[in-house]
Amino acid sequence: MDMGEVSLTEKLEKVSQSPKLSLFFDEIWEEDSMLAKIFFAHREEIFPSIEEIHQPMPYLFWNNFSISTMREPSLIEIKMKLDQIELEKASLSPDEKALYDIRDLIFFYFVQFLRSSQILKKLIEMRDFSFEGMKRELKDYESLKSDLSSYMKEVTESLEQISMIKDPVLKSRINELKKLRWLDFPRFLDIAKPYLSKMTLSPSISGWAEELCEKRGIEYEEYTSVIEHLFAIKLINNIQSVFWCENCRDEVPIFVSSSRISPFQLRMKCLKCGKPMFVSSVYRVDETLGDLILCKDGLLAVALAYILNKNGIAYEYSIINEFEKDFLCDTSEGKVVIECKMNKSPKDADTVRSHLQNVLGQIIKHLRSLEKRNVHVVKSYALLNYDLNEYPDVIKKVVNQPNFIEGIKIFKIKPIGYKDVPAIVQKLK
Ligand SMILES: [Zn+2]
Repeated sequence: MDMGEVSLTEKLEKVSQSPKLSLFFDEIWEEDSMLAKIFFAHREEIFPSIEEIHQPMPYLFWNNFSISTMREPSLIEIKMKLDQIELEKASLSPDEKALYDIRDLIFFYFVQFLRSSQILKKLIEMRDFSFEGMKRELKDYESLKSDLSSYMKEVTESLEQISMIKDPVLKSRINELKKLRWLDFPRFLDIAKPYLSKMTLSPSISGWAEELCEKRGIEYEEYTSVIEHLFAIKLINNIQSVFWCENCRDEVPIFVSSSRISPFQLRMKCLKCGKPMFVSSVYRVDETLGDLILCKDGLLAVALAYILNKNGIAYEYSIINEFEKDFLCDTSEGKVVIECKMNKSPKDADTVRSHLQNVLGQIIKHLRSLEKRNVHVVKSYALLNYDLNEYPDVIKKVVNQPNFIEGIKIFKIKPIGYKDVPAIVQKLK
């Protein structure tokens, strides 16, 4: 359910209100932009998923392993030590233990709500569940709202009068939590922060950033300068850094900092031996930018809308319900369709071929249904989120496939990568 998703227009409004986000989207369309190489990656390549919630979290990672002249870091050893520290912290602090209890309660009430709402129950048990089916049942969500408000009333009442709760385990859990005087929301967030960063440190140490660079074909130094740049314009914030010394192998000193420091400020020397330390840090991405990267449309669609707007090209977005992520543009040459598709970075020519087949299949289907509505399209682009110029042979083969060749000719379809966008926009102005 996309109840929380705002429209593309609203997203662009947010961007235009923020100077740093406007700067980000200007820079992403510059020639050979490193921002584009990194942030046009699929959201699951940019952000790691945290096991417990199965959802990518808006964090970026940086470490000095590859640019350091020291010997290889003994990652497993460090990871074990960090886990040990976290474990000790968790067992020592009743606050952190309470977090798990709160999570249990949230899930308990969430599931109970699902079970209590007739309409949600019907949806869950529906045989052929689909987006359309969901919309048909929930309409404008009014019935869901009334279900939720009566359920919330019940829960609030039972929490005020614990004797009303029948489940003995639940009752004792809530009683325990009620004893905690600190349980107000701002305080809760304070406590949640280290809990979250605990989950985020391991991708940092296991080399998430290096993998991202490899997938997108960029050097680690280039990635570092992007992190520094984003930090300078305050689009990312350092939430935690871990320093350790590999020289002092007998007993590795480990320091944890939650200060706001940029990568170039992270050159720390060991307090024991004076040698440079290894460092690994986690950055939280600006909330709006994080939402834009994680949104269903994908960052490429948002960036495309941004550059079309900026050049005064009017467009309709996701015109027909069954075709999402497509732009019908009003250009100087007539109506132009751009179908926008986010894929994971291709491993080989075969992956590129299947991405192309996929997007071409979609755009042809879409153009045929526009034709039926008497919308005359003069040309169209199938846009992918990586550089297609590296695969001329694959493109040639796919566009000449018997199932595509006719549609491509009639609708004048051209497959393009994100790098081709600025030049095309200039032509369409
Ligand atoms: Zn040392």
